[in-house]
Amino acid sequence: MTAADTLRSRGLRLTRPRRIILDVVRSTDTHPTAASVYRRVRRKLPRVSLATVHRNLRQLATQGLLVERSAADGMRFDGNTGVHDHFTCVACGRIYDVPARPRSAVRRRMASSTAFEVFDYRMEFYGRCGACRRRRTRSPLTRHQRRTYGRQEP
Ligand SMILES: [Zn+2]
Ligand SMILES: [Zn+2]
Repeated sequence: MTAADTLRSRGLRLTRPRRIILDVVRSTDTHPTAASVYRRVRRKLPRVSLATVHRNLRQLATQGLLVERSAADGMRFDGNTGVHDHFTCVACGRIYDVPARPRSAVRRRMASSTAFEVFDYRMEFYGRCGACRRRRTRSPLTRHQRRTYGRQEP
């Protein structure tokens, strides 16, 4: 089903701003903020407002065409709606998609040790990406955080 079909089945239209906003988020894997989407959308629609971009992002997320996720620096939007996990680089702040770990083992373990029925869970990885490791950027973590994450100094 195309994005236009999905929206039409809910009585919404894939307007030009909506299509451009969707394209911008889907064409990148950087999980942009609303402000960053706005900057890119403005190149094609110079008169669009941040509020319009924001409203459409929320609406596209509600319809399942995008995923809205909270990150350390606010809300971000993910054009990848498939099951996957994330790696956040604490040096450059980039959020990378990584393949999802198998869900069933963790769900079973949880079910056997609690009374909870788990439908899904989220796994987040934090560290330093390949580009930042090559640049040997100084870690922005405090000594306490380094101890918590068990990281070794380069
Ligand atoms: Zn990085
Ligand atoms: Zn993602």
